[in-house]
Amino acid sequence: MADGKSILVDTSRCTACRGCQVACKQWNGLPGTATKQVGTYQNPQDLSAETWRLVRFAEGKKDNGKPYWYFFSDQCRHCLDPPCLDALQGFVKGAGVHDATTGAVLYTSVASQAPFEDVRKACPFNIPRQDPKSKALAKCTLCFDRISNNMPPACVKTCPTGALVFGERKEIVEMAKKRVEELKGAYPKAMALNPDEVRVIYIVTDDPKKYHAHAAG
Ligand code: SF4
Ligand code: SF4
Repeated sequence: MADGKSILVDTSRCTACRGCQVACKQWNGLPGTATKQVGTYQNPQDLSAETWRLVRFAEGKKDNGKPYWYFFSDQCRHCLDPPCLDALQGFVKGAGVHDATTGAVLYTSVASQAPFEDVRKACPFNIPRQDPKSKALAKCTLCFDRISNNMPPACVKTCPTGALVFGERKEIVEMAKKRVEELKGAYPKAMALNPDEVRVIYIVTDDPKKYHAHAAG
């Protein structure tokens, strides 16, 4: 099903405040993560079973030699045809749910019985994580509990710059197209990532690989 809900992540509007990252932990009751200073702003270093949304920081040089500093608020894309669910269900019946109304991709408690590395490898965006103790599989739920009750996802609600927008998928796809056209004047490489395949649509202004190795899958 291609209707349902979507999130637009417009990286051109993101200031890396990490409000979304914190709101996700707060709403979902996820603990803080012990981190190390490694000489960059990246904190924590990666997604985990307790960090379902992560603002990634990337530094480098553009084609014209000027420096860039890009921000990419990473999360599950809630694929329209989710390969992680195909992998999961192949191992354990009832391990995943693809919600018919919203399109949210959810894992159930029996997902812990599936071989985690196989599920992780099935995801083109390197999203699923496993709790080292309980072995539960974890990732963003599209705030299924909130969106089923007509509330926006916690990350979207908290974003102060309008970088995150939640709505009906058809409207978000149109919004993404319009925004890319606006950006192309100043940023000829502006593009929406995988808009026909995913529910969480990112807009970038440069080569997606400069943001994150798995940005475009
Ligand atoms: S982004 Fe990865 S984890 Fe999320 S639905 Fe798609 S395949 Fe599954
Ligand atoms: S939609 Fe909800 S669960 Fe997913 S990243 Fe946003 S706050 Fe976290």
